Amino acid sequence: MVTERSPLVALTDRMAREGAVSVEDWMGACLAAYYGKGSAIGAKGDFVTAPECTQMVGELLGLWSAVVWRSMGCPARVLLVELGPGRGTLMTDALRALAPVPPFKAALEVHLVETSPGLRVRQKEALRESGVAVTWHDRVEDLPDGPMILLANEFLDALPIRQFQRAGQGWRERLVAPREGDPPFAFVAGSPLTDRPALLRPAHDAAKDGQVVEVCPAAHETVRWVSTRIVEQGGAALFLDYGTARSAPGDSLQALRRHAFAPVLADPGEADLTAHVDFEALAGTAVDAGARVDGVMRQGPFLQALGLEQRAQTLLASAAARQREDITSAVRRLIDPAEMGTLFKVFGLRHPALALLPGF
Ligand code: SAH
Repeated sequence: MVTERSPLVALTDRMAREGAVSVEDWMGACLAAYYGKGSAIGAKGDFVTAPECTQMVGELLGLWSAVVWRSMGCPARVLLVELGPGRGTLMTDALRALAPVPPFKAALEVHLVETSPGLRVRQKEALRESGVAVTWHDRVEDLPDGPMILLANEFLDALPIRQFQRAGQGWRERLVAPREGDPPFAFVAGSPLTDRPALLRPAHDAAKDGQVVEVCPAAHETVRWVSTRIVEQGGAALFLDYGTARSAPGDSLQALRRHAFAPVLADPGEADLTAHVDFEALAGTAVDAGARVDGVMRQGPFLQALGLEQRAQTLLASAAARQREDITSAVRRLIDPAEMGTLFKVFGLRHPALALLPGF
């Protein structure tokens, strides 16, 4: 059912006029409608992210930022930026953990890049008590000048992808077409392309006939902008997300609804749509822009290197019985290879003069 939400209405009107649209356009419209509601994340929503799973993630990343700030030479003013802050939990926990580092707290300005009006309201509520001035932006390009430390958890996977299907020696773009029936959409192959699609990787050529490969133009634009900005004005960025350390063929487009996988084309705008992040491809874009790349590494060992288990021990020492169970299961969830420990990856981008980032 397509409900009365403007990005989806615009999309379905366009499909009624023009027929099939790219996966990228379809996914973009569905996600704009989906995140616009602001109820996606958390136990009552469709998925739970690492910072929602335990306060320790935000705390460790707050301290990570403080160490990076020191290695930048303690600039008197620094932008602490988060892309796609969800419910504001990571930033709230990070700022609380920074209480013992007053000089960093005094130097930082929080800037959040968030398109969802509903989630902006949540973020404002979460950060009200933090005592720090917060500014919101629609796009990274709108951030003010200055050295910055940027965090982004599960942001890149929420950006729309293009899919291409191998057709003999060439490629066809995978499209979404309207159809009679339920679901009211189907994947179709576009006409054979005369040019090699932009952003395709050499590893994608291994795709067998009919197999799908993916590229995420918006993720490359974000990483290119952040890298250029860090190189010109100083700082570092940390991206945590699920995906692959190496580029490879494969269809990873998935829908999550109420903590379970759902059919991708059913109920547009009602389910979370994501695709795996191709860290190798994005690292290439960062290096092209002049940044140094640390990682890609698995999230489990990264959080362990930042002191996840030590932090858990401290919390356990003063926790009630039920909290103890929550803390232990959160640590397991974050580092267990069968849960978030291996599928989730981390990479850091830094100014070439900065030392290796903490945790790598
Ligand atoms: N980082 C949070 C939320 C992850 S969900 C967490 O870990 O819990 C993805 C977040 O990115 C949401 O806040 C969503 O509204 C935001 N988002 C998605 N696409 C965006 C875009 N193009 N620009 C800015 N924010 C976006």
